[in-house]
Amino acid sequence: MNIRIDKDRIVERFKRYIAIDTQSSETSETTPSTEKQFDLARLLEKEMKEMGLQEVSLDEHCYLMGTLPANGLEGQPRIGFVSHMDTSPDMSGQGINPRIVQYEGGDIVLDEKEGIVLSAETFPELEFYKGQEVMVTDGHTLLAADDKAGIAEIMEAMQYLTEHPEIKHGEIKIGFTPDEEIGRGADLFDVKKFGADFAYTMDGGQIGELEYENFNAAAATITFKGLNVHPGSAKGKMINAMLLAMEYNGYLPTARPDNTEGYEGFYHLISMSGTVEEATLQYILRDHDRELFELQKSCIQETAKRMCELYGEGRVIAEVKDQYYNMREVVEPVMYVVRHAEEAMKAVGVEPKIGPIRGGTDGSKLSFMGLPCPNIFAGGHNFHGRYEYLPINNLIKATEVILKIVTTPVEK
Ligand SMILES: [Zn+2]
Repeated sequence: MNIRIDKDRIVERFKRYIAIDTQSSETSETTPSTEKQFDLARLLEKEMKEMGLQEVSLDEHCYLMGTLPANGLEGQPRIGFVSHMDTSPDMSGQGINPRIVQYEGGDIVLDEKEGIVLSAETFPELEFYKGQEVMVTDGHTLLAADDKAGIAEIMEAMQYLTEHPEIKHGEIKIGFTPDEEIGRGADLFDVKKFGADFAYTMDGGQIGELEYENFNAAAATITFKGLNVHPGSAKGKMINAMLLAMEYNGYLPTARPDNTEGYEGFYHLISMSGTVEEATLQYILRDHDRELFELQKSCIQETAKRMCELYGEGRVIAEVKDQYYNMREVVEPVMYVVRHAEEAMKAVGVEPKIGPIRGGTDGSKLSFMGLPCPNIFAGGHNFHGRYEYLPINNLIKATEVILKIVTTPVEK
């Protein structure tokens, strides 16, 4: 099979999708969190129907699904591809002004007047794309390659297959979700209706990324109850809640995001507030290893208990809530899902880079909902900010990987 992706067409497709603002919102309780995500969903729905996909459905929560039936590679597992339609609340995605530059090394000036520069020193990975075309922003919005590059790749791959019926493939399921950036993308995903045996999220960064291990994650809130007395007569009576909080933090292990990497877990203090009366600390706990993760949670509880023994019952209250788990335990029994993607990458000349994610993906939740779902590169860099960029070759290569995955028999 000789795949030839039309560069201009996929670039136009990507631009069409990023022209629609789909920023999600953490403060909203609804799904989708912002109505405007439907604007993109409806466009995609129309395009899916036009190219002849079957069972195209957009539900009231902005989950969009469709099927491309098998055409000769029957009896294969049904393979799914998933991307998210929303963009990060961290940076505006309205009025994105994309530009393609032929990168020859050094900095890329995004806005000359305001001195906004994509610096080769700050972002040394740029060097890797010397001699290539790179799409950048004008420095005032994000680029939305996270994750509209993923959507463009999936859609282009489907279009390619419908235009080339001589290329044999198995049944393919595609799904686009809202609200991934606010951690809710998988919540209302109907795995049964989707109907895939396994899937891939197209939501990774640089070329070659392939991930099936992510953190186990929990959030902890610690509340400290003080006792306020006039400072002039407080001796032996006052209990300052803020000082309790500081003491508490001092008892915790020192593994933090800024001094850990790879498989190392951490305790990350994300917020603190307080008065003498009451103080609150919020942490997120992360570890790839399930046992160490359980230990982190009990350390949070035990530390609170020990301080209650020192200062009195009820002075320190710890609440811990699990957020998501490492998909490795779901994927490992079906490792051929990872190997299949790895082989597809090699077949199109992409070197697979398999490593642990220091975060989570929608794929981790989907995996625990019964749909094993590793993550594949979508090709962009510097997500969630003005320095986001997308090498055009990555966009094309990711599309080729999708095509290779669905046209190669799966070896279990
Ligand atoms: Zn993403």
